[in-house]
Amino acid sequence: MGHYPELTMMIDGEAVTAGHRDTFPVINPATGEEIGRLPLADKADLDRALDTAKRGFARWKNSTPQERAAVLEGAANLMLERREDLARIATMEQGKTLAETRIEVMMNVGLFRFYAGETMRIYGRSLVRPAGMRSTVTHEPVGPVAAFAPWNFPLGNPGRKLGAPIAAGCSVILKAAEETPASALGILQCLYDAGLPKEVAQAVFGVPADVSSHLLASPIIRKLSFTGSTAVGKHLAKLAAEDMKRTTMELGGHGPVLVFDDADLDVTLDTVVGHRFRNAGQVCVAPTRFIVQQGIYDKFLAGFIDRAKALRVGNGLEDGIQMGPMANARRPEAMEQFVADARAKGAKLHTGGERIGNQGFFFAPSVLSEIPLDANVMNEEPFGPLALINPYSSEEDMIAEANRLPYGLAGYVWTTNAKRQKTIQREVEVGMLGINTTMIGGSDTPFGGIKWSGHGHEDGPEGLAACLITKTVHEG
Ligand code: NAD
Repeated sequence: MGHYPELTMMIDGEAVTAGHRDTFPVINPATGEEIGRLPLADKADLDRALDTAKRGFARWKNSTPQERAAVLEGAANLMLERREDLARIATMEQGKTLAETRIEVMMNVGLFRFYAGETMRIYGRSLVRPAGMRSTVTHEPVGPVAAFAPWNFPLGNPGRKLGAPIAAGCSVILKAAEETPASALGILQCLYDAGLPKEVAQAVFGVPADVSSHLLASPIIRKLSFTGSTAVGKHLAKLAAEDMKRTTMELGGHGPVLVFDDADLDVTLDTVVGHRFRNAGQVCVAPTRFIVQQGIYDKFLAGFIDRAKALRVGNGLEDGIQMGPMANARRPEAMEQFVADARAKGAKLHTGGERIGNQGFFFAPSVLSEIPLDANVMNEEPFGPLALINPYSSEEDMIAEANRLPYGLAGYVWTTNAKRQKTIQREVEVGMLGINTTMIGGSDTPFGGIKWSGHGHEDGPEGLAACLITKTVHEG
């Protein structure tokens, strides 16, 4: 199976081991077995991390763009060198396939390289004024960042939480998910090995609510960056508001997919089915609610079911596996409840709907159709391998269904009609829209949602701007 590293926190340059501290068992979701023990921070650890972050910020805000670029570029090169180890560790602790965790490494490589360039382009502007006067607009790093990364992209989420603040000249205290700590520590180590001063970025773990309330109560922290559920996001945004801290909130979604009669059926199915079941559906931008026009509906549903049944589910470390287990014991339980509720309310289940095997956290790729809108799964983010497929007749009704929920993260439309593409672009309320594609991310493009899916962006110049404040200086 390969080596799984000893787990520590990284505080003030020290690899902090368990000692007297509480610990958390890290479980391989493919087997249900414990593979590591993670030390959890106590209050003294968090205070030490805060003091260090203050020092780290004083140091890093005065770094040169060249120094920051060299660290990011160096870390990208090291991630590339260590790709197989990082990918294997991420699959062991999160479950997704090796093909997927390798892509996550490459996402980080691309993002760090992009920010290595972008940090050189933090420009201000100087304004024309009467003789002897001048107004200058400058940008400075916002300050120490408290960043919370979830388990669904064990490498990619920590990469996002670290890349932009480091490029901006901030310090960071990262609390990655306790379920996937070694991946986060692997990314941090690449940064250290590329020359990042250890006081600039640290890793703590703990009881999430205790860590976030402690860090956010400190005036040292000037920005909260959170990826996770809308419920937790709202709670943390309130804590951040107490001290008027800057926030970037990447929250849940319920990806609407509008499929019109004029779509290319095979291309659509070949693309969306794989993306629906990527990472066993545990992706915030996953295509989820399939809003399908009547004329193509029967063929779409039949093709979807065939493809879902053909997926090879198993241990993500094995060759040829297309979908791994769910990340933790809570997820298959949640899937069972969603399916039972939907069926009780009249939905049709075509395939899946149950766990696979009796070890690990596997749940079968599942297809439901004709699901009443009051079913829980049509209103709450499923975050699992459930495809929800309903028929509609008019464009107007399809757009209304896409906008029915308070979420607004990613949306997708499949149509060859150019006029319709423009209408959807205007009318569908999302932060990211894919037209005849599910490829909606890139290191140079902003990633983020609207409405209950959050605010602010990661990636792209916008992700860097979110870590900068604006200061205007007027000289008389
Ligand atoms: P959860 O809401 O308890 O946790 C989600 C993440 O937030 C975890 O990483 C957790 O450590 C963290 N978290 C929870 N409470 C926190 C707090 N008070 N302070 C700081 N961090 C906190 O749920 P879960 O069971 O781990 O995941 C289930 C749900 O979370 C899913 O249904 C999905 O909606 C959401 N989720 C979203 C994303 C995303 O990419 N947007 C990622 C993972 C989970």
